[in-house]
Amino acid sequence: MGVRKVFVKSVLNRHRRDRWFLDEYSVNPYYGCPFNCVYCYTHGGRYGVRGGLAVKVNAPAVLDRELWRRGRRGEYGFIALSSATEPWGLGVEDRYGVTRRCLRVILRHRFPVHCLTKSTLITRDLDILAELRGRARLPADLQGVVRDGILITFSLSTLRDEVAEVFEPRAPPPRERLNTLARVREEGFTAGISYIPVLPFITDSEVEEMARVAKDLGADYVFFAPLTLEGREVYLRVLESRYPELVARYEELYRGRTPLKQYVARFYREVLKHLERYGLRFGITEVDLGV
Ligand code: SF4
Repeated sequence: MGVRKVFVKSVLNRHRRDRWFLDEYSVNPYYGCPFNCVYCYTHGGRYGVRGGLAVKVNAPAVLDRELWRRGRRGEYGFIALSSATEPWGLGVEDRYGVTRRCLRVILRHRFPVHCLTKSTLITRDLDILAELRGRARLPADLQGVVRDGILITFSLSTLRDEVAEVFEPRAPPPRERLNTLARVREEGFTAGISYIPVLPFITDSEVEEMARVAKDLGADYVFFAPLTLEGREVYLRVLESRYPELVARYEELYRGRTPLKQYVARFYREVLKHLERYGLRFGITEVDLGV
């Protein structure tokens, strides 16, 4: 895998708090993503990633300065690691270790972190995360709402290996991600599953099993959302070759980037029914799905 090395001026992005994932910052140690999932929103025109994969070699040093400034002003908030790349990409992070070095910097400045991953490599960094867990400073309004300053969310769009091989062929298979979730739960971390995106007519039939699996593994929370078609061209190309019978149904369902409202409402009603049955919570804090 060809990886360019780049130097950046800034690596800490600030945004309004995400009401689902609770992050107010994001850090992406890489440009592009080694997993290159078919449905990834970064394939879309608005976010289109050009130039392949690159490692931000000076990210830890830049982050150190940026967090020092934020910390001095008391602007603590969850950092999403990451929002547009896999921070524990196999074959990349195990070679460059930029995410691990960023985590050391975050520990030094005591910021809370929300780890968003499809990778088993996160277990390498549980030592740093365990230390940060007791030290991170939460924003005042999240104290007592979350247990501590570490959230670990595993992302899955299917439980079936044969489907994952089509849509996320470079990521560890679903079973390995779920085993990793079980391990981090055993080690006492707050952890959950993000079933995002669920793929209409392909993995939306798995919703009940997804809820059951989350329950069996002791997930603290779950998220579900149907696919947003940012990278329409890339996705439909794969659909045409692997699921040609679904192309017309997708064209009907996706007049724009999001599925038709009726589908979305039905989808969430189904999700909530199964979550209730298994006694699971949608989201880390209460989320109004409007259905
Ligand atoms: S792992 Fe996430 S960021 Fe990477 S390609 Fe897949 S969806 Fe996109």
